[in-house]
Order: sequence, then structure tokens, then C-alpha cells
Amino acid sequence: MTKQDFHVHTTYSDGDNSPEEMILAAIDKGMTKIGISDHSYTWFDETYCVPKERIAEYKKEITALKEKYKDQIKVLCGVEQDYYSEEPTDDYDYVIGSVHYLKVDDGFAYVDESPELFQKAINESFGSDVYAFAEAYFATVADVVNKTGADIIGHFDLFTKFNEDVKGGRANLFFDPSHPRYVTAWKKAVDALLPSDKYFEINTGGMASGRKTSPYPSVEIQNYIRLHGGKLLLSSDAHKAENLCFRFEEI
Ligand SMILES: [Zn+2]
Ligand SMILES: [Zn+2]
Repeated sequence: MTKQDFHVHTTYSDGDNSPEEMILAAIDKGMTKIGISDHSYTWFDETYCVPKERIAEYKKEITALKEKYKDQIKVLCGVEQDYYSEEPTDDYDYVIGSVHYLKVDDGFAYVDESPELFQKAINESFGSDVYAFAEAYFATVADVVNKTGADIIGHFDLFTKFNEDVKGGRANLFFDPSHPRYVTAWKKAVDALLPSDKYFEINTGGMASGRKTSPYPSVEIQNYIRLHGGKLLLSSDAHKAENLCFRFEEI
């Protein structure tokens, strides 16, 4: 199995290790390719992304590292482009398109920040109807390739992030993934994205952080994508070196 990983964060955004530390760890693990994909700048939330004034430095450093380590590993300079980021993506090697927020009347509803903000979005932006939130989320994901020019569709069902209590062994904390409105919403998004022929990630990041017992997207969604000829790509969404290629063999 080719060991490669294209969803990787560093200290330029919300990761723990520098790009060089990630690359050295990748070489150590025997990986043949690594793509660094820090979070694109979002003006409405600067807490986790590459600061606007460091974008040029980010590209320059990864480009220098590509050259430095070219005999040991292929390094790519990518970006995880949020749906609402307004930064250009032209000079990256590839783009991961991700939906982390939804635009609502009074600003942005947070999909993956915390269970508290997820609950707040349900209550205050979607009339306490979690399925209305899910429908709006997947309608936005359906447009992510169009909007961001993504080569890879990031964590397709990130909406499930807080739905499990892994330690307590409880599921469906916020919603039932077999609810017909939920199923219809994700199927519509997969159907809309399939003609683009881009990769859907199988993202093990939620497992690495202990939030989930399975990757994004769910097995049901993975099977639907496969059945309809879609392409899947393993990625770790690593925020630290030890999580590169997290549980890839097994998944
Ligand atoms: Zn993401
Ligand atoms: Zn990520």
C-alpha cells in the first residue's frame, strides 16, 4: 500500500508541529507523499487558520521544503479551503474543499467548533430543527467543488462530529443518521458532487481526536459513493505528527 496523506495541518494554522517536523515524521513512517493543507484564511474567524499576513510565507516555506526533501519524499503544497474563504487558491498544488460553517441571518453557524455551538446553531438558526440544519449543511457541501475548486471533498459528513459520546458508548446525541430527511440530504449532496469526479475523503481525524469511532463519511455514505462510481481517498486530517496516516491500514 502506498503510504500517502494529503490532509495535514501544521503550526501555520491549528496544528502542533511545523511543516518540517511533519515531513520528517512522514519520512520516518516510510510515506512516499505528503500534502500540507493548512486552513485557508477566513475573515470572520481568525482563531484556527493561516493568518492573512503569513499566507505568502506558508507557500514559500513548503516550496523550499519540497526541494530540500525531494530525494526522500514528494511534498505537495495544498490548502484546506473553507467554503466561505475569500482567498485565491490558484497557486496551490491541490485544494481540499470543506464546509465548517453555514451563513445564517446574523452571521455564521458553527458546524464543528463545539457541541455547545452546534446546539446553539440548531436552536437559534434553524428553529430547533436539527434536520433543517443538516439539510442546509449538505446543500452547502453539494456546492463545495463549484465554490472552492476542490480536488478533494473534505470530511463530507462533518455534521456528525458531535453525534457520539465515544467514552460513554452512546450514539445519536443530536440526531438519527437513518432519519429520512438526513438520508435524503446527504444523498442529494453526493449526487450533486459525483459528476465532478473529485475524491471524497475517508478522513480518520475524528477518530484520532477521540470524537468518533468511525471515519468521515459513514460506511453507508462510503458505500453509496462506491456504488455510484465515486472515488475515495484516505486522509488523516492530522494536527500532530503522530497522527499521520492514522489507522489507514485497518480502515
Ligand atoms: Zn476541516
Ligand atoms: Zn483539516
